[in-house]
Amino acid sequence: MDDVTVTIRPDRRTEIRNMPFEGKGVGYKILESMIGASRRGQVEYDLSTRTWSVSRSHSNAVILGLADRYDRVKVIQHGGVEKCVEACWKGNPETAWECKCSCAGRNHGSGSPYKVTVSDGGVGGALSVQASAPREFYVP
Ligand SMILES: [Zn+2]
Repeated sequence: MDDVTVTIRPDRRTEIRNMPFEGKGVGYKILESMIGASRRGQVEYDLSTRTWSVSRSHSNAVILGLADRYDRVKVIQHGGVEKCVEACWKGNPETAWECKCSCAGRNHGSGSPYKVTVSDGGVGGALSVQASAPREFYVP
């Protein structure tokens, strides 16, 4: 059986996957009680992707509640973006420790920008961005 998985993204509803089926409508009751729902509609289910979702502010309650109910929960937490400037990725890879950009030297001297280049020209040259890798961990 796949682990019950909670996926958290900035500014998006928190998604719950692989929750065992325990009867018609039971999933709603389980999650509503975990988040202390005062009304219907706070817990949503997408039949096509078999994904439950709750407001992002309820992430902590569902992670702790699901961990308690199913022993263990996998959490996939997506963060913000990594940024790198042209001067950095075109820099000398042997001086990555001199990097002042927010890639913290990870992309320094690689010769290639990140996935999306958001500007070019200007004082600092081009800026490229990519989503930072999600953090995956288990609770407990
Ligand atoms: Zn950089």
